[in-house]
Amino acid sequence: MAQYDFDLFSIGAGSGGVRASRMSASYGARVAVAEERYLGGTCVNVGCIPKKLLVYASGFAEEFEAAAGFGWSVGERTFDWARLLENKDREIARLNAVYARLLDEAGVQRLEGRARIVDPHTVEIGGRSFTAANLLVATGGWPTLPKIPGIEHAISSNEAFHLKELPRRVVVVGGGYIAVEFAGIFNGLGSRTTELYRGELFLRGFDDDVRRTLADEMRKKGIDLRFGADIARIEKRGGVLRARLDDGAELEAEQILYAIGRAPNIAGLGLEQVGVALDGAGAVVVDAYMRTSVPSIWAIGDVTNRLNLTPVAIHEGMAIAATLFAGRPTAPDHSDVPTAVFSQPPVGTVGLTESAARERFGALDVYRTSFRSLRNTLTGSEEKTLMKLVVDRASQRVVGAHMVGPEAGEIIQGIAIAVKCHATKAMFDATLGIHPTAAEEFVTMRTPVATS
Ligand SMILES: Cc1cc2nc3c(=O)[nH]c(=O)nc-3n(C[C@H](O)[C@H](O)[C@H](O)COP(=O)(O)OP(=O)(O)OC[C@H]3O[C@@H](n4cnc5c(N)ncnc54)[C@H](O)[C@@H]3O)c2cc1C
Repeated sequence: MAQYDFDLFSIGAGSGGVRASRMSASYGARVAVAEERYLGGTCVNVGCIPKKLLVYASGFAEEFEAAAGFGWSVGERTFDWARLLENKDREIARLNAVYARLLDEAGVQRLEGRARIVDPHTVEIGGRSFTAANLLVATGGWPTLPKIPGIEHAISSNEAFHLKELPRRVVVVGGGYIAVEFAGIFNGLGSRTTELYRGELFLRGFDDDVRRTLADEMRKKGIDLRFGADIARIEKRGGVLRARLDDGAELEAEQILYAIGRAPNIAGLGLEQVGVALDGAGAVVVDAYMRTSVPSIWAIGDVTNRLNLTPVAIHEGMAIAATLFAGRPTAPDHSDVPTAVFSQPPVGTVGLTESAARERFGALDVYRTSFRSLRNTLTGSEEKTLMKLVVDRASQRVVGAHMVGPEAGEIIQGIAIAVKCHATKAMFDATLGIHPTAAEEFVTMRTPVATS
C-alpha cells in the first residue's frame, strides 16, 4: 500500500466519513478526509442536531399552557428567535471543534475544500492531488427543489436554520419526516403554519395508524394540513410570498419551505468519468460490503440512498473500516433500524408496518391502544397517544412496534432491542410494566384488535 499517499481517502466528513476515517486510523491505516463545507456534515450542521434544538424550543408554548393545569401561573411570555439561533450556532460551532479534535487525535489528515475523483486511486482538492489505495465516497445528500415558476423565492431546510426572522406565516411543502418536523417547529413557535403534501397521506413508509394519528394531532394543534395539494407557482409582492396551488387556491406567507426530498450529493465528483455505476436517482450503487463498481472506490451513507439516517451512516462507516483494515469483512445490517420523527407529538417506530408485515408473514396479531396520557388529565389537552405491536401469528415474534406520543423516540429505542432480539409477544407479556408510565402499555396489551 505504500505506493499511495494514504490507505483511505474519505470524501466528506459527515456522519459516515468521520466514523470511517477515525475507525480506520485506529486500525493503523493512513487516512485523509476532505470536507468542503462543515465538519460533522448534515446531521451536525443542518440536520438532526439543530433540528432537535428547534423542536425543543417549539415545545415550550404548550408546556406553559400545561403548567396552568398543575397550579402554575406563567407570566408574560416572549420569544426571541435571534437568541435561539445564536445559542444553536454556538453549540454547533462547539461540535465542529469536537469533530476536528477527534479527527486530529486519531491521526487523520484533514483537508478543506471540494474533492474530485480523477482516477480510481487519485483525488484532487484545491489544485493538489493525493493518491490512496481506497477512496470512500461519503458525500451525503442535498435538498431538491421542484422546477416551478418563482421557486427562487422558496427555501430548503438548509436555509430554514438561518432565517433572520421567524416567519409570521409559513408554508411547508412535503410529506416526509423533515417537512412534518418543520411544520411542528414553526407552529409551536407561533408561525401560522400550512403543510402541503401532494399525496393522500404523509409519512409514506410509516404504519398507516401512525400516519393517520399524527395527522389528526397536528391538526388539533392548529396546523393547516392539506393533502392532495401542491404549489404551481410562487410570486413575491413586497415582502410577501403568494403561492398559487394546483387547485387555484392561493396562500400568502413570509416563507415557503420545501422539504420534498434529498438527492445524492455527487455533482462534479467525477464518478461517471471513472466508471462508478449510479442508479436512476443518481445514488452510488454498492454491493453488500459497500464497494462500488470500481474496486478501489467505496461509498457509504446518504449518497447510496438506502436508509438515510445518521446511525446507519455511522454503522456503515464502522463496517467499512473493519472490512478494509481489521481483516473482518463486514456487511452493514439494515434490518430493524429504529427511527423517530420529531413531530409534535413525536413518532417512534421499529420493524415492519402492519401492511409490510402482512405481505411478508400473512397472518398477524395486531395489538393497538390509544389513550389520553395521565399528564393530560390535568392539562386539558385532548392529545392521544397511540401504541401498536405487530406480531407474526405463526412464530409469535413481535415484528413491528410503533408509537405516536410524548417521548416516542426514547421509548422505541428500548423496544428496538427486544425487536432486534426477536422477542416474542409472550416475552413482552412476561415483562412487568413501570407504573405509572405510558411505556408500560407496550407490555400490557393483551387482546389483538385485528386479526387476519
Ligand atoms: C433537516 C434534516 C434533519 C435530519 N434529522 C435526522 C434525524 O433526526 N435523525 C437521523 O438519524 N438523521 C437525520 N437526518 C439525516 C442525516 O443528517 C443523514 O442521514 C446523515 O447526515 C448522513 O450522513 P453522511 O455521512 O452520509 O452524509 P453527510 O452528513 O451529509 O456528510 C456529507 C459531507 O460531505 C461533504 N461533501 C460533499 N461533497 C463533497 C466534496 N466533493 N468534497 C468534500 N466534501 C464534500 C458535505 O459538505 C458534508 O459535510 C436529517 C437530515 C436533514 C436534512
